[in-house]
Amino acid sequence: MNEFELIQSYFNWSIKDPSIALGIGDDAALFSLKDGQQLVTTTDTLSESVHFFKDALPSDIAYKSLVVNLSDIAAMGASAKYFTLALTLPKINHDWIEEFSKSLRQLSEYHKISLIGGDTTKGPLNITITMMGVVETSRALLRSGAGTGDGVYVSGTIGDAALCLKKLRDGLVPSKGELLKLNRPTPRLELGMGLKGVASSCIDISDGLEQDLSHILMASDVGAVIDVKNFPLSESVLSYIKNNGDWSIPLCGGDDYELCFTVPESNKKALKILSQSCNMDITKIGHIDDSRVLKIDGYDGARNSYQHF
Ligand SMILES: [Mg+2]
Repeated sequence: MNEFELIQSYFNWSIKDPSIALGIGDDAALFSLKDGQQLVTTTDTLSESVHFFKDALPSDIAYKSLVVNLSDIAAMGASAKYFTLALTLPKINHDWIEEFSKSLRQLSEYHKISLIGGDTTKGPLNITITMMGVVETSRALLRSGAGTGDGVYVSGTIGDAALCLKKLRDGLVPSKGELLKLNRPTPRLELGMGLKGVASSCIDISDGLEQDLSHILMASDVGAVIDVKNFPLSESVLSYIKNNGDWSIPLCGGDDYELCFTVPESNKKALKILSQSCNMDITKIGHIDDSRVLKIDGYDGARNSYQHF
């Protein structure tokens, strides 16, 4: 099977989105934007042994490659529309590609997003997805809008993925629920879209709350005080901390793909309504000030969020 047959067999799904004028098969894809829309583009790579273990399931790898990109679209308050896939494979293993393709297709159908192109090459296993979305002009959520006095919030619970990863690395067996948090995080698309006009800034937590919130502070030229006592934690993270006192898991552990955002006092009511309509737990963990530093009450350990280099 050559590269073109591989694409034809596993990745040339039927396209239903009428905004796509030309999908897979030409030199590039074509799609039309409506008036008043901006295109939002983001890309993320997942590499074997860096982002997933050597024996990870192809279905989980496909799922996470898509979610990490969807999460960035969510953090912008945009709706996801199209994606391209650059797949580097060490060899053609039909069972592996079949399972990968099936999982990718299922999740993209669920989110109503279309695969519109890509590339396949031979080499160490590597998946790069470029995701495109749309947002109303000038309405995207940026990192740069946080102002003094705004509350700092996170969605869901934090630290679950990092705890699962720690257990795997320590040779322990995580529960099914813990594995799901690591392998199949949920992109907060509905929340992200609803936060437009409510939040003053937003980011998704991919590398660790401490580092990702710091990106907001830097971009907004502000500081913040957060308190670990306020962190929303699952039962497993809570019991881990009770035993180890190790707050670095929810603070610096990445991979949760929850949203961290800031909301002015005047929008608190709108936020509560949004939390109810999305059926999503949202927790205030601190507030923005003008100190230009991140103060973390209840924590004096290392600030060791994930860094590639
Ligand atoms: Mg991000």
